[in-house]
Amino acid sequence: MMEDLSSGSSDYAANTWIAWFLSTKGNEYFCEIDEDYILDRFNLTGLNTEVHHYFQALDMITDTLDESIDDESREKIESQARLLYGLIHARYIITTRGLAKMLEKYKRGDFGRCPRVLCHHQPLLPVGLSDLPFQRPVKLYCPLCEDIYSPKSSRHGSIDGAFFGSSFPHMLLMVYPHVLPSKTPPPAPQPNPGLHWQLYGGIPAEVLHQRAAMLERRARADNDDDIFSFGSAQHTPIGSPAPSGGEGSIERIRPRIFGFPVHEISRLMAWQERKHKEQAARIAQFRDQTTKHEHTSTGN
Ligand SMILES: [Zn+2]
Repeated sequence: MMEDLSSGSSDYAANTWIAWFLSTKGNEYFCEIDEDYILDRFNLTGLNTEVHHYFQALDMITDTLDESIDDESREKIESQARLLYGLIHARYIITTRGLAKMLEKYKRGDFGRCPRVLCHHQPLLPVGLSDLPFQRPVKLYCPLCEDIYSPKSSRHGSIDGAFFGSSFPHMLLMVYPHVLPSKTPPPAPQPNPGLHWQLYGGIPAEVLHQRAAMLERRARADNDDDIFSFGSAQHTPIGSPAPSGGEGSIERIRPRIFGFPVHEISRLMAWQERKHKEQAARIAQFRDQTTKHEHTSTGN
């Protein structure tokens, strides 16, 4: 007994079953469930019907399993203990303590980060598409683009979604609303409220004028062979100060493989940009005509 204790303290990972489980590769999404929570049988109501060898599995998780059990049955109990831990985990992580633990993991980016470029490495949250085990593997929810993604690693990709449940991300974001990323850009400063700041389709008039001016300039520049001019031009500062982060700054992502634009999409984008230029040229032409017309009418 003394030997067991001393060898256990030197190797923390193997100290308790839960510590061993959490340190196993591929189990990084799980948090440590408090033993108090597991020992309160009320929290486990109904799980005895989901798990075979329920009591032995529970004993294994809490390190009270009979030592004399042979290896074969130990293996069977082992797999059931993992299932039981997962199912308790789904219940635990929507409790106050569980949410706090998962919040720390979320902040550290333990669940990975959104692959979408415009989400700027937004941390993800695990979500199950079903609350029943053996239905769907775990997915990752991005609170910014509100989409779900499959985990990068196959180890994580094979974890049962029911070990996190279908309401976990919502619960976490409701309890900690301050970690919800802001989707709307900060309101544009309004130095002179009035017609100038009237919104057209949610876009301030000022911004629309700036866009039109930019399009005209681009049409005049008329460098047809540079189909990437659109991408570089959008970052050039435009005349008067644009509202920070407002609709004026359009970000357009051009998919690339090893730096080369993806053929179909780049062709489509080139077409869109050509149409863009044509339209801008038409607007410019129309403006010229109306100003000429004004001149002639004032001349008379
Ligand atoms: Zn995202």
